[in-house]
Amino acid sequence: MPSRYKKNLSLKYFVVPAIIILLTFATVSFLAIRGIRSSFYSLLEQQATQHAENYALQITKSTEAIEVINELLNDKLLTAMNSVSLIVDRIDNETLTVWADSLGIDEIYYYNQAGEILYSNQEHYLGWMSYPGHPVDDFRLSPEPFRIEDIRPDSESGILNKYSYVRTPEGFFQLGIRAIRLDTLVDAFEPNSLLTEMAHKTHVDTLYLLNSDRIVQSSSDPSLIGSRIEEPSLQEMLAPGEPQVMIKRLPEEGVYQVYTPVKLGDTTVGILGLTTSLAPTQRMSDQLTIFGLVAIAVIFGSLSHAVYITYKRKNQLLEMAYHDPNSGLPNRRSLLSTVLDNRQANTALLLAHVRNFDNINLVYGFHFGHTLFRALAQHVQASFADRYQVFHVAGNRFGFYVPTYLPKDELIALAKEVVEVLEEAIEEQGFKHQLDVRVAICDIPDPQADPEKIFANVSVALLHGETAEEPYIFFTPAMEEQLLRSDVIERELRRFLTDPQGEQAGRLWVEYQPIVDLTTNEVVYFEALTRMHLPGLGRIAPPEFIKIAEQQQLAVELGKWVLCESCKFLRQLREHGFDHILVSINISASDLLQTGFAKRMIDLVGQYQLTPQIINLEMTESTLMLDSDTANEVLQSLRAQGFCIAIDDFGTGYSSFARLEDLSVDIIKIDKFFVDKILTTDTERLVIGDLVRMCHRLGLKVVAEGVEEETQRQYLKEQGCDLMQGYLFSRPLLPADAIELLQSHRRSQLA
Ligand code: C2E
Ligand code: MG
Ligand code: MG
Repeated sequence: MPSRYKKNLSLKYFVVPAIIILLTFATVSFLAIRGIRSSFYSLLEQQATQHAENYALQITKSTEAIEVINELLNDKLLTAMNSVSLIVDRIDNETLTVWADSLGIDEIYYYNQAGEILYSNQEHYLGWMSYPGHPVDDFRLSPEPFRIEDIRPDSESGILNKYSYVRTPEGFFQLGIRAIRLDTLVDAFEPNSLLTEMAHKTHVDTLYLLNSDRIVQSSSDPSLIGSRIEEPSLQEMLAPGEPQVMIKRLPEEGVYQVYTPVKLGDTTVGILGLTTSLAPTQRMSDQLTIFGLVAIAVIFGSLSHAVYITYKRKNQLLEMAYHDPNSGLPNRRSLLSTVLDNRQANTALLLAHVRNFDNINLVYGFHFGHTLFRALAQHVQASFADRYQVFHVAGNRFGFYVPTYLPKDELIALAKEVVEVLEEAIEEQGFKHQLDVRVAICDIPDPQADPEKIFANVSVALLHGETAEEPYIFFTPAMEEQLLRSDVIERELRRFLTDPQGEQAGRLWVEYQPIVDLTTNEVVYFEALTRMHLPGLGRIAPPEFIKIAEQQQLAVELGKWVLCESCKFLRQLREHGFDHILVSINISASDLLQTGFAKRMIDLVGQYQLTPQIINLEMTESTLMLDSDTANEVLQSLRAQGFCIAIDDFGTGYSSFARLEDLSVDIIKIDKFFVDKILTTDTERLVIGDLVRMCHRLGLKVVAEGVEEETQRQYLKEQGCDLMQGYLFSRPLLPADAIELLQSHRRSQLA
C-alpha cells in the first residue's frame, strides 16, 4: 500500500528532448567541422596546382630569357671572334687590351697549341696552362674551329663569364664576357632561387622539382637536392592522360604533399612537389573542434540549466496544485487523481469533517487555528499513512482513500478510528473533548466511476451525517435524490423571491391558522404559515423549504415577503372590522440575528400603516439558544417597539424555566408533543398543568399547539391554559376563508 501520495513529473520528459537536441547539435557541429576541413584541403590542392602552373610559367619565362641573353652574348662573341681573327699577326698584350675595350669584351686570352696563355689583357694570367678536363683544354683538343660555351664561372676567379673560342693557325683565342651584370637576372631564373622565392611568397614549406626518376633537381630546401622521392606512382603521373594532381597526406609526419607535372609547351619537364605542414590546418581544425566543443558545452549547459529550472518549477507548480499549502497534505485534486488512476473495483472513500474547528479559529484566532490544524493533519497522516492515503480536501475536512476492498464493518471501524485519532491529536495539543467529528463513507463498486461524482456523493453523505446519531454515515442513492430535490426547491424559492408576482407567482402563499381563547372561544390572533407547491414535487412541507432557505441565505428575503403578506392580511382584517385581531409570524434564526432586523420590521409594518402592537413574532428555543445574548438584545428592542414575542415549540429544546426568566418574551407555545400526551397518558403523570402554572407565575401567556380533540381542549381549559391552536378549531386558512370564519362566528354570536 502506498505510504504517501506523491505527484511528480518524470525527468525523462525533459532529459530525452535535451539529449536529442544535444545529439543533433553535436552531429551538425561534427559535419560542419569536417566540411570546413575538407574545404581547406581542397583549397590547398587548388593552391598546389596553381603553384605548379606558376612555376612552369616561370621556368618557361626563365628559359626564354636565358636563351635571349645567350643569343645576345653569342652575337657579341661572334662579332668579337671575327674581329680578333684579323689581328693574328700582331698579337701582344697591348693590342689585346685595346681590342678588348673597343669590342666591349672583358677578357681576351691567346693560347699556343699547348694550351698556355701567351698574351692577354689580363696580364696576371699570362703563362696559365690549361689542364685536362678544363673547358679550355676541352676546346684545345677538339677539332672545332670555334666554340661558344654556356655561361660558367671562371675556374680561377669564380666570376661568371660566357666564353668563346676561335682557332688560329698557331693557337686559339679565348674571349670572355663577364656575365656579372646578368647575375641577378640569371639568379632570378635559377630553379632553386625560383622555388625558394615561390615557397616564401606562397607560405609553402618546401617546393621541389623532380626529374622523371623522382630525383630532386632543385628545391627551396637545398638539403633535398639529389634525394629521391619514394613514391613509384609519381612516374605514372608523367604518362599522358593521368590525373594532373596527386595529393598525399602524411599525418605522422604532420605534412601534406601535392605533386603536379610541370610542362613546357607539350613537354613534361619534371614534377613539382610541394610540402606544406599540416600544422596550420590541424591548428584551425583543433580550434574549430575546441570552439565546437565549447559551444556544445555552453549550449548543453544552458539547456540543462533551463531544463532543470523548468523541471523544478513544474514540480513546484505540481506540488502547489496537488497539495494543501497549510497542512502540506495532498489536496482534493490529488484525491480525484488518485481515484482516477487506481481504477479498481470495490474501493472506498471516507470524508471526515471536524465540524466545530471553526469555533477554535474564532476563539483563538486563525493563525493559531492554522498551526493547530497542521499539527492535526500531521498526526492523522502519521497514523494512517502506512495503510491509507490521507488527503486534506478542504477547510476542516480530511479524505481517506481505501484502495482495496474492505467489508462494511471494517469501514465502520476505520471511520471510528479516524474520529479517535483526531480526538487523540487534539488532546495532544491540549484541547480535550473539543472536537465534533463526522465521517461519511462512500463505497466505490465501479472502477470506472467518475471521481468528481464520488466526491460529490461522499460530501452529500456528510451533509446528511450532520444530524445522524452515529459519527459515521454511509452514502445512499436516496441522499443524492434528496440533494437534487433540495436543489430544485432552492432554485424555485430564489426565483419566486426575486419576483413574487412573476412567472413563479402562486408557488408560495401564506395561510393563517386561528388561535382561540380557551375561555371565550374567540379568535385572538392568526399564525401566518407559509405554503409551497411545486410542479413535479407537489406540496413541500414548510420545515423542508424553510431549512433550505436558511441554508441558502434566503431566510431574510422570505421573512420580508411573509411579513408583507401578513400586513396585507391585517389590512383586510381591519377593512372588515376585525381591528382587535393580531397576526403571528414565525422568524428564522438567521433572519433574527441579521443586523438591523428590528428596524426592518418596523419599517415594513410602517409601510402598511400598521403598528407593531398587532404583530406577534414566534421563534423557537433553538433560535434563541444560538447566540442568546444577541438574541435577547434584539427581543428587548422589538418588545420596546411594541411587538409581542412568543417562544414556539416550547419543551422540545434545551431551555429551562430558569432561562425563561431571563428571556424577554410574552407568550409560550407548548409543543404538540405535550398536548398529544393528554390523550395517551394518565392525568397524574401529565406535566402540562405544571408548565402552565409556572408560565403564569412568570407573567407569560400560554398557547397549546396541535389541539385536535375535545378531550385535549377540556383538559387544557381545566389546567388554566390561555389559548389553543389546532385542527379542532380550524386548519390553516386562506385569507378570504379566515375572514369568512371570523364573519360567520360574528354572525352566530349575533343570532
Ligand atoms: P409552527 O410554527 O410550530 O407551526 C405550527 C405547525 O403545526 C404548523 O405546521 C401547523 O399546520 C401545524 N398544526 C397546527 N395545528 C395542528 C393540529 O391540530 N394537528 C397537526 N398535526 N398539526 C397542526 P406547518 O404549517 O407544517 O409548519 C411547520 C413549521 O414550519 C412551523 O411550525 C414553523 O416552525 C415553520 N413555518 C411555517 N411557516 C413559516 C414561515 O413563514 N416562516 C418560518 N420561519 N417558519 C415557518
Ligand atoms: Mg409557529
Ligand atoms: Mg410550533
